[in-house]
Amino acid sequence: MNIAIIGTGYVGLPTGVGFAELGHNVICIDKDEGKISALCQGKITLYEDGLAELLNKNFSSGKIKFTTSMQKGVAGADVVFLAVGTPPHPVTKEADLQYIFAAAEELAQYLNGYTVVAVKSTVPVGTGDKVEALIKAKNPTADVDIISVPEFLREGYAVKDFFNPDRIVIGSDSERAKKVMAELYADFADKTEILYVNRRSSETIKYASNAFLAVKIHYINEMANLCEQTGADINEVAKGMGLDKRIGNRFLNAGPGYGGSCFPKDTMAIAYIARQYGVNMTLIEDVIRENAARKKQMARRILETIDNIPHAKIAVLGLAFKEGTDDCRESPAMEIVNELLANGADITAYDPQAMTNAQKLLGNKITYAPNAYAAIENADVLAILTEWPEFKTLDLRKVYNTMKNKNIVDCRNMLNRKEAEACGFHYTCIGYKKNRAQEQTENAA
Ligand code: NAD
Repeated sequence: MNIAIIGTGYVGLPTGVGFAELGHNVICIDKDEGKISALCQGKITLYEDGLAELLNKNFSSGKIKFTTSMQKGVAGADVVFLAVGTPPHPVTKEADLQYIFAAAEELAQYLNGYTVVAVKSTVPVGTGDKVEALIKAKNPTADVDIISVPEFLREGYAVKDFFNPDRIVIGSDSERAKKVMAELYADFADKTEILYVNRRSSETIKYASNAFLAVKIHYINEMANLCEQTGADINEVAKGMGLDKRIGNRFLNAGPGYGGSCFPKDTMAIAYIARQYGVNMTLIEDVIRENAARKKQMARRILETIDNIPHAKIAVLGLAFKEGTDDCRESPAMEIVNELLANGADITAYDPQAMTNAQKLLGNKITYAPNAYAAIENADVLAILTEWPEFKTLDLRKVYNTMKNKNIVDCRNMLNRKEAEACGFHYTCIGYKKNRAQEQTENAA
């Protein structure tokens, strides 16, 4: 099939490459000339495990092409995916649909023959109706169906998730559009549930899922707070909870709060939608507020360890919002770093993939180190803020010898607490703090 994808970012690019790999003819359209010019030279524009190789292969074979021209991309496409950004409105925090509407208006004039326009961007319930009205107004004779096909891929696993999604949701009442999508997703039919629902349900499924996951993350963080007061260990508690199949073991890692380009904006967007419809969603409102406060609490935790050290140096490991990506949008690490800077901190940081993006946001306010050990050199405290696997295997002896003062604040519970303490570190993690009775027992032993 001929597929056009509008928006060549963290969703559009892996989706385009994935469909090309499945044998479709893909053309990716973006108005960012720098991105398209790089991609037209076969250069990858974002970090995703395995994406560069697949891009090279399909670009060389001509299965995937890139353009800034909407006309070139849309004319002749069987399916046009809309994968542009839907960032939070700066004031109301609702999803800002200006990019969706601009792209819909522009594509309308180039529709040619029966086309399915599939909205992949995360959009509020009812957006499909608005996109349909816009396209019909611009091109009244267009033979087109507007459907919702939300994206559920996880950054860091985008390629894996494209080929092995938990589910594919298709929101449409049009039998004709459903037939086209069944053909497009035929390769997935044996292994993945393809759920056909109405367009409004489909739009809602995406927000409902992300809000639920955000609540789950916040829930385990609240349990971690409780564990820190009681002497229980959140890692053990989460393991015990996760063995219950009704709960599941994913999204039970206590940490610095959720971040990234989706959860913060999608929780705010669904809360806004609920308010518009007069529906009470205090659970999500609370989670949004408390999750924001958590970043400040983490910064305070780091600062407390160096309270009495003049001109203390903080080493930060991890700037991306999670492992496996170079994306720093709404990264908890970036928010913590900003809070530390606001308190006059001197920071040297390292991230395996996100340094370029971090530098775009932080400029020269911090020092960037070429590797983890260089960041740690002469530091008074080491703060681990992103769960990159390489931080798990740090040589703690070497870290100890490299640091000036031996403090670690492990906001991702990456290190082995007992090993770190045995090395002589003052080690602080999330969701475990010895209470007095435990300290007495350990001292007596
Ligand atoms: P992104 O910012 O990485 O990419 C969006 C791209 O769209 C940009 O390259 C931008 O230049 C381009 N664009 C904007 N307007 C355009 C237009 N009129 N014509 C052509 N190109 C245009 O965004 P993203 O992270 O890929 O997210 C896209 C959508 O997918 C959002 O709604 C997001 O909520 C949703 N989503 C994201 C993820 C994720 O993990 N990033 C996961 C699921 C869903």
